[in-house]
Amino acid sequence: MTTIRNADLHCHSVVSDGTLTPEALAERAARNGVELWALTDHDEIGGQARAASAAHQQGMKYLTGVEISITFIGKTVHIVGLGFDADDARLRQGLIQTRGGRGQRAHEMSDGLAKVGIPDAYAGALTYAGNHDLISRTHFARFLVETGVCRDTNEVFRKYLTEGKPGYVEHRWASLKDAVAWITQAGGVAVVAHPARYKFSANEEYALFTEFKTHGGQAIEVVTGSHSPAEYITYADSAREFGMAASRGSDFHSPDESHTDLGTLPLLPSGLTPVWELLESRIQ
Ligand code: AMP
Ligand code: MN
Ligand code: MN
Ligand code: MN
Repeated sequence: MTTIRNADLHCHSVVSDGTLTPEALAERAARNGVELWALTDHDEIGGQARAASAAHQQGMKYLTGVEISITFIGKTVHIVGLGFDADDARLRQGLIQTRGGRGQRAHEMSDGLAKVGIPDAYAGALTYAGNHDLISRTHFARFLVETGVCRDTNEVFRKYLTEGKPGYVEHRWASLKDAVAWITQAGGVAVVAHPARYKFSANEEYALFTEFKTHGGQAIEVVTGSHSPAEYITYADSAREFGMAASRGSDFHSPDESHTDLGTLPLLPSGLTPVWELLESRIQ
């Protein structure tokens, strides 16, 4: 397994907020030279069987994947799980619970948008959701672009869907402790996704990594589509400092929206333990 270099262990399909099917993602990943792949839909593992089978058809190795939404010190953080048993009952129950509040939240987002003159956003967003249990801000963003309210999804997030904006709704996701436990008890490894995205202070970030490790978390995403090259170095240092393994993943969502394609990021910096070395027995 030490021969694997081009691993892409973070992306999204129509099962959450991506625009491609698991099969189309697998084809794209293989075309870009990915050797080991994981589909990591938000709060949902319904695409895992299709993804594993498509990976094998494309000659890639596969790790099961998920990206769990959690609330940590009042902020939303994402924890990626890799290499778990997708049939594990506690993990499945935890994900059902995590997805549970999305419908109500989406109605409240829609109410907020209606108040600023954007009607029917719930119904509109739903037409973009491949999985109605997983309606997300991304689906609202696509609807607002399609209806001409904004030029691109970035503008939608900036003007409407982030804290303090009309379509933003406070939400309580899973706890850090629970998410890590669901993943590790199912035989997987928990990874802090794109740490630079949270804009934590040094103290807050220290608390996140420390508590994550205490609960059994083992890796940090170092090379991701959400990080700059300077941030690869910052978080490579964090991985060494906290004695954690490192992960790599594009966080690809869509050919039209994502600036980082599957399998095209720089390789992990040297001197780090790639997360897949902790998962040799879980690779399919
Ligand atoms: P949700 O889980 O419903 O809160 O939606 C979060 C998703 O929105 C993330 O996984 C990203 O795909 C997307 N997202 C968050 N912030 C932005 C942004 N500034 N621009 C574009 N997409 C974003
Ligand atoms: Mn997303
Ligand atoms: Mn994320
Ligand atoms: Mn993601």
